Amino acid sequence: MTTRPSMFRALTSLAICVTGGLLMAAQTTTTDTHRFTEIRNGIYLAQTTAPVFNSNAMVIVNDDDVVLIDSHVTPSKARDLIAAVKTLTPNPITALINSHHHWDHAHGNQEFADIPIIGHEFTYMKLTTAPLEEGTYTRGIAGNDARLDRMREQIKSTTDASERAQLEADLELFAAHVRDFDEIAPIPPTVTMNDRMTLYRGGREIQIMFLGRAHTGGDVAVYFPDDKVVFTGDMALGGPSYLGDGFVDEWPQTLENLKALDFDVFVPGHGGPVTDLNRIDLVQEYYRDLWQKTAVKHEAGVDVEEASRTIDLTNHTGIPIRQVGVDPLTIQRIYDRLENPD
Ligand SMILES: [Zn+2]
Repeated sequence: MTTRPSMFRALTSLAICVTGGLLMAAQTTTTDTHRFTEIRNGIYLAQTTAPVFNSNAMVIVNDDDVVLIDSHVTPSKARDLIAAVKTLTPNPITALINSHHHWDHAHGNQEFADIPIIGHEFTYMKLTTAPLEEGTYTRGIAGNDARLDRMREQIKSTTDASERAQLEADLELFAAHVRDFDEIAPIPPTVTMNDRMTLYRGGREIQIMFLGRAHTGGDVAVYFPDDKVVFTGDMALGGPSYLGDGFVDEWPQTLENLKALDFDVFVPGHGGPVTDLNRIDLVQEYYRDLWQKTAVKHEAGVDVEEASRTIDLTNHTGIPIRQVGVDPLTIQRIYDRLENPD
């Protein structure tokens, strides 16, 4: 179902965002489905307000048009985004950029079939090679099902009537979100690039840059040199990213290439804008240490399960890592990279 624009109440307020320990005054606009945070000069972070997992998108309002970055988790959420953008500007959306191929960022693509979709060649390859059979996607689907089961169990064991009514409402909301996945039919970028592409829109320069392999083989950063802002997708978050498709050995150098750009705030694929750029250094150190400690276990013939239980990264107090152990999926991915480097 498409929400009609007339249903939106656009509320504008001055909010205070805490980002990496720094305070930043940011203008936010809230609709029925989205919260837009203006980072600089018509560059908005777009986040859905529903309490279900989704990725950030960016809305770039130029003199005559709008460019979007990332299409959300489902076609339904993409339609909500398209409708909500109309509360910000009458300018038409003329292009979508995919930061990478992951489902939570790119499975709204089909709602943009009538405009150019720009992405890395690796993103094109992934979105044209059985994307619904990708491990990262099928694990996401399994996670949805497991959450539905947990919610139903919780309802069964709740005796308080009002608490139970709230849980039932939460379940219905999440079940509707899960049903939205049924209409996903991924489409790839229609314009691809390998290293770099620049869009000139009105007075704005938008640089789309591949800085090296990181979270996937085809992450692109979207850089706004005049505003000193960069959208990093999942290649740089406020802490470590999902590593299941990652290139942990190459990632620190990719982040070094990112740091060579002149910016003072970055917008990640999840979470709020980050102004404490030291977060990138902390994550680089974490990846280097994780790779090195995992390689030692691999060299010693330790299996994935034992390595994932025993690798100790609690020395990374700035991240912070509080418990010994690493997700087995991460260790498996690093073992695979060690055995089949390419
Ligand atoms: Zn991702």
